[in-house]
Amino acid sequence: MSIDGQIQRSLEAANRDFDGFIRELREFIGIRSISYSPEHNADCAMAASWLGKRLENLGCTRVEIYETVRHPIVYGELPAGKTHVPTVLVYGHYDIQPPEPLGDWMSDPFMAEVRGDHLYGRGASDMKGPLLACLAAVRAMLAVGEIPVNLKFIFEGDEETAAEPMDDFLKEHGSLLKADVCLNVDSGMLGSEIPTITYGLRGSSNCTVRIFGPAQDLHDGMFGGVVQNPIHVLARLISGLQDEYGRVTLPGFYDRVRAIDPEEHALIERHPHDTAFFLSASGATGLVEDPDYLPVERIGWRPSMNVRWIEGGARKNAIPVQAEARISFRIVPDQDHRQVHQMLLDYLDERTPPSVHWEVEKYIGDQGVIVDTNTPAVRALSRALSTVWGSEPLLCRIGGSIPVVGELKEKLRIDTALTGFGLPDDNIHGPNERIHLPTLRRGIQALIHFLYGLDLEKKK
Ligand SMILES: [Zn+2]
Repeated sequence: MSIDGQIQRSLEAANRDFDGFIRELREFIGIRSISYSPEHNADCAMAASWLGKRLENLGCTRVEIYETVRHPIVYGELPAGKTHVPTVLVYGHYDIQPPEPLGDWMSDPFMAEVRGDHLYGRGASDMKGPLLACLAAVRAMLAVGEIPVNLKFIFEGDEETAAEPMDDFLKEHGSLLKADVCLNVDSGMLGSEIPTITYGLRGSSNCTVRIFGPAQDLHDGMFGGVVQNPIHVLARLISGLQDEYGRVTLPGFYDRVRAIDPEEHALIERHPHDTAFFLSASGATGLVEDPDYLPVERIGWRPSMNVRWIEGGARKNAIPVQAEARISFRIVPDQDHRQVHQMLLDYLDERTPPSVHWEVEKYIGDQGVIVDTNTPAVRALSRALSTVWGSEPLLCRIGGSIPVVGELKEKLRIDTALTGFGLPDDNIHGPNERIHLPTLRRGIQALIHFLYGLDLEKKK
């Protein structure tokens, strides 16, 4: 059978099996794999073994469940029928965010419900639906014949909470994951008619800054104006980190930020998210003004600073003992998260008055990443998405982090083809999370085209 014939029959098989796919997705959503709370450890283990079973059913020749310091990692291998074909590593995570507040859900978050074109349930979009879409595409291809590429699968259970399990796994078992490309469908689409390939992710540098004042809370009538208040110091330190446009004022902060080249400007002009989008999506009365950069540029292409919380004092008449804030920088290539952290430490050292002392703790950082878009895999993905949607995918940089993309690149030199089938209004992490089923169906079709297209690319 010709490749085109195989693709056609695989697409038909996927369509025939779509109801079965939805049943399987509902079962998966029923597993409460919340990595955040230890009381769900058994559920996470269950999700891992459930996925292991799916891989066995698919015909994987090797399936392993690796224990980690937190939740298990599932690994599988499915060799192609012939040699000299590319190897694709399919990444996914089975863990989900907690469903709270439960009262805001219109249906039980773990009893997935179809309403209209959407399936509602925790994890439907992030990312149980897209993860199973990868397996559904492979199953449809196997129903027709042998798969054209070698497949490896890696599914983790701590994407939403901790980096150590994956870091450790890459260190200890990295050689297992040897592949030509990683397929990661954990990023989303900008709209149901806008297929999207993400090629840039921001990294981050976060820590808690604590300012210590008097040895105990002091009466502010007896000591106010004489003893330094740590809340005041913290407020001044924070406000000194940014200018009126929200730009970070730490010396040297922008030195390594890549300039936006003309080609990228052309991509940015196609980006549908304008000022009106950010106003309506946020509910804010206005945006931070910046005369030089558009909102999407400030999200995907430029670094930013954000205070996540401030704590200090109590509802009483006193100068408090301490105040603290979680300070987060979103960084871009080629900034280095450790260097940004050092800039903050130098700033605190220089600017904190001797009337208080400061400490920094709970530091977490990861690097931003840019994926090379001129690779056989990204070209194949682009063609696959164009074929199914009838329009060229938008290449886009996003503001969040997917640390595994950078880790695979740094530790194993594996580039990632990053896309997704979730939409901006899927309410991921919020109540009433959902997935748009017609889009997910197209996603499965695109994955079939991608896996066949990758083989053709290799032969050229
Ligand atoms: Zn996710």
